[in-house]
Amino acid sequence: MRRQNLAVVLGSVAAHSPLSRADVAGRTGLTRAAVSSLVDELIGRGALSEAETAPSGRVGRPGRALTVSDRGPAGLGLEIGVTHLGACVVDLRGEPRVWRRVERANAGRPVERVLAETAALAAEVEAEAAALGLQVAGRVLAVPGVVPNEPRGLVAHAPNLGWHAVCPADHWPDPAGAPEPENEANLGALAEYWHAEHAGETFVHVSAEAGIGAALVVGGHLFRGARGFAGELGHIPVHPDGVPCACGARGCLEQYAGEVAVLREAGLAHEAGLAQDGDAQPADPVALLAERAVAGDAPALHALERAGRALGLALVSAVNLIDPDGLVLGGAYAELADWLLPAMRAELATRVTVRPWEPQALRSSELGRRGPVLGAAQLTVRRIIADPTLLPAG
Ligand SMILES: [Zn+2]
Repeated sequence: MRRQNLAVVLGSVAAHSPLSRADVAGRTGLTRAAVSSLVDELIGRGALSEAETAPSGRVGRPGRALTVSDRGPAGLGLEIGVTHLGACVVDLRGEPRVWRRVERANAGRPVERVLAETAALAAEVEAEAAALGLQVAGRVLAVPGVVPNEPRGLVAHAPNLGWHAVCPADHWPDPAGAPEPENEANLGALAEYWHAEHAGETFVHVSAEAGIGAALVVGGHLFRGARGFAGELGHIPVHPDGVPCACGARGCLEQYAGEVAVLREAGLAHEAGLAQDGDAQPADPVALLAERAVAGDAPALHALERAGRALGLALVSAVNLIDPDGLVLGGAYAELADWLLPAMRAELATRVTVRPWEPQALRSSELGRRGPVLGAAQLTVRRIIADPTLLPAG
């Protein structure tokens, strides 16, 4: 009961701050005495701070304003991408305070080396956060792979990194402080849900780095599927007799809208450094595609239009199957939205006919490539807001 009331009080301040203790009592229906005791505990746990200023221009003696602390507990998000490492620290107010992104060719490199570098980046970023008065209370790692529901802590398969059955804690310098892995598309979708005002309660979030990831938020909750494999949009067939896919099937979406497929079709495979391996600094293929498209390069425009049609076709099934409020184009795809969205919208308009569908229900994410690492950092913060007893008592 007390745990629940702590969450009610913290949630109320998080949503409406600054509030006085009396305001919190008014909003939550708890007695002033109960609120005071709960607020004291939340201050002791570092979740709330109270300043000696009036929250509004009220007459009478000045109140003390409660706000969610911007020092103290924080969430660390980490990301291992095919061509980069990322890190982000978010305070309890949900504000990103430290950002870091380093280009790094991670595909096919030894797992222990990639994780050692990620741990070193985490240590650097945590030191930077500590200088701002922030202590990391939880670590989540975004990976471009399948993270099953059971056992937790395992990356079952990350084909674009060359990972099979990797448990990050086995390679972390301090296993007790190892980050919890989660699929990057899932984290991107959660970040969108928490960040965007008009995300809706039920939507499909499609993103791409090397592979295509999709995630479903249904009724405000991430839908992980029976085993955690939901959202494998990349292997939905868009041409039943199409080109063979690495998964063993034919005509998968990834073969038309995946990064490698688009770059090949655009004639940019060589320039984008697809032939490179090892530690060579990779070019940014998405920036390269966007640059060519802006310049009106015909093969690039054709490749993006073909990818947009394939994505639209795949999403028709999703729309008819789950009846979402909307569809969000996130990750690196968001930077190509100008060229992908028209073909996607045309495909959806032609094929979604038995139910209402507005072209604007498909939009691009403002978070873009920052989504997964931001979602990873926010996950800890959201867990603390929902259960402040996760923080040590002061
Ligand atoms: Zn496939």
